[in-house]
Amino acid sequence: MSPPLYDYQLKRRGSILGLPLDGLNIHEIIDILDMSLQKRRAVALSGDGAISENELSHIVTLNPEIAWAAYNDPLLFRAVCSAELVIPDGIGVYLAAKLRGEQIPQRVTGFDLMQRLLELAAIKGYRVFLLGASPGVAEEAATAALQRLPSLQIVGTADGYFREIDEPDLLERIASLDVDMLFCALGAPRPAEPWIYRNRENLPVGLAMGVGGSFNVMAGRIRRAPRWMQRAGLEWLFRVILEPRRLLRIAVFPRFVLTALTYKENDQTEY
Ligand code: UDP
Repeated sequence: MSPPLYDYQLKRRGSILGLPLDGLNIHEIIDILDMSLQKRRAVALSGDGAISENELSHIVTLNPEIAWAAYNDPLLFRAVCSAELVIPDGIGVYLAAKLRGEQIPQRVTGFDLMQRLLELAAIKGYRVFLLGASPGVAEEAATAALQRLPSLQIVGTADGYFREIDEPDLLERIASLDVDMLFCALGAPRPAEPWIYRNRENLPVGLAMGVGGSFNVMAGRIRRAPRWMQRAGLEWLFRVILEPRRLLRIAVFPRFVLTALTYKENDQTEY
C-alpha cells in the first residue's frame, strides 16, 4: 500500500475485539480504492512494474459473526488484521464500536459497497471477476450487473465449489486476466477472508473482497430486505425469516456484544 494514500485511512483506524475497524464513509472508501487502483494501473503502464505487481487491497466487511469467529480463530484473526480496509457491515459491529467511542461515521454494507464499486468499474474501465456461489449464479449476477451498467467489463466468472486440487488453475486464470476487482461470494467451509489471505501472494488483482450471498441477491435468487428494514439495521432479521437456520449463526451476537463492550486492549490474544 502506498503510504500517502493510506495515511488517510490509518488515521481513522479504530478497533473492535482487537480487530481493526476503519471509520470511513462510503465516498471515502470509494475514493481510496479508486486512487489505489489508478496508481496500480499507472505503475504498470509506466513500465516500472508489471501489472501483476502485488498491490492487493483486501477489504473485509465485518459483521458480528466474522468478528466473533476471528476472535476465536488465529488464521481468521490474522486475515482480518492484515486487511487493508475493514468496514463495519453488520449493525452489531457498528453499534458496539459506537458504544466503545470509536469514530465510525456510518455502517457500509458489503452489498452496497460492491454495487458502488461496480459503478466505479463501469465508469473507469476497471476489470471485474466474480468468484463464488453455486454454478451459474455468478453468470446470472454478471448478466444482471451488465443490464444495469452496460459498459462494465466482467472479464470472468467461476463458481465457489471448486476442489482444492483445481485451485492453482483457478488462481492462474484470475492472474492471467488483469483483474482490478475480485469479488468472492464464498462461504463456509471455505469463507472468503482466510481464502484471500492465504492466496494473496498469488492474487495479482487490485482489490479482493468477500461479499457473502451478494451474487444470489444480484441474480434475483434471494430477496434483499426491504429498504425500511435495511435502514433500521434489521437486515439480519429478514435473512433469519427467509432462512431460519441462520438463527444458529447469529446466536453468537449477545456474546460478541458483551465481549466487545468489556474488551480491554491488553486482553488481545497474540496470534
Ligand atoms: N459458497 C460457495 N462455496 C462454498 C460454500 C458457499 O461459493 O463452498 C457460497 C454460497 O453459495 C453463497 C455464499 O457462498 O452464495 C455465502 O453466502 P452466505 O449467505 O452464507 O454468506 P453471508 O452473506 O451470510 O456472509
